[in-house]
Amino acid sequence: MLTSIKPLQLIAAAVQDGVGSPEVLLPPGASPHHYALRPSDVRRVREVALLYWIGPDLESFLPRVLAGRSQPSVAVMDLPGMHLRHYAEGHDDHDQAHDEHAEPEPAVADEHDQDHRPGSVDAHLWLLPANARVIATRMAADLSAADPANAARYQANLVAFGKRLEALDQRLKQRLSGVADKPYFVFHEAYDYFEAAYGLQHAGVFSVLGEVQPGARHVAAMRTRLEQAGPSCVFSEPPLRPRLAETLIAGLPATLAELDTMGASLVVDGNGYTTLLDNLGNDLAECLNAL
Ligand SMILES: [Zn+2]
Repeated sequence: MLTSIKPLQLIAAAVQDGVGSPEVLLPPGASPHHYALRPSDVRRVREVALLYWIGPDLESFLPRVLAGRSQPSVAVMDLPGMHLRHYAEGHDDHDQAHDEHAEPEPAVADEHDQDHRPGSVDAHLWLLPANARVIATRMAADLSAADPANAARYQANLVAFGKRLEALDQRLKQRLSGVADKPYFVFHEAYDYFEAAYGLQHAGVFSVLGEVQPGARHVAAMRTRLEQAGPSCVFSEPPLRPRLAETLIAGLPATLAELDTMGASLVVDGNGYTTLLDNLGNDLAECLNAL
């Protein structure tokens, strides 16, 4: 089995526990928003029997090579029962961003915004335990059909994974219940599924790429929002911390921290997925509780 991104690989590892090891296409730290396939990737995509990816709203580089596959692949975004969110048309942060972008500021325009535009599907659907269960259920069915000798094991793994997801959901609810009113900012609009499930809401999104220095006007607008928020957390994502982050919070009561939505450093095993979400909850709570 091959999955496009690490979070899907971690879900697959829970289903295949004790039977096999799922592989992943994107190398650690690579962003699915900006990935370019290598020739060896194309071969793997074409040859593997079972392939899972999120969908064209995330891995926009995949559809053209999928045409060369003889076997079907699963865009998990299309699975029945999947909870899907769309970026809101009237989203405050988007309005703010658009106002700022109304001034000619080419340095801030980035491809990433194309994946996060109002009305489009929010592709970060793996950050919701209920969606992980939908994905695991499909994987277990496909694996059982392809490998009937181990079908009972896949089904038992699925049941065990479901129980771990329920416990995870309870842990996250408990851990995050006290931090709902603490302000925080993110560099990437990736957390809506998680936030909606656990009663959180970011105070703003700083729309910048790690290596691009935005214009002075945009930086000033972001500083103003940070000043107004008072003590707050500013979360970037590994492996890149935008150079801007340090400058942005200089002299303000803001704390820099990281949230890892991809689990780049996590061990691939049956507990990898729950660790990914536990870490997300812990890192959020740790910074917000210290404000
Ligand atoms: Zn994203």
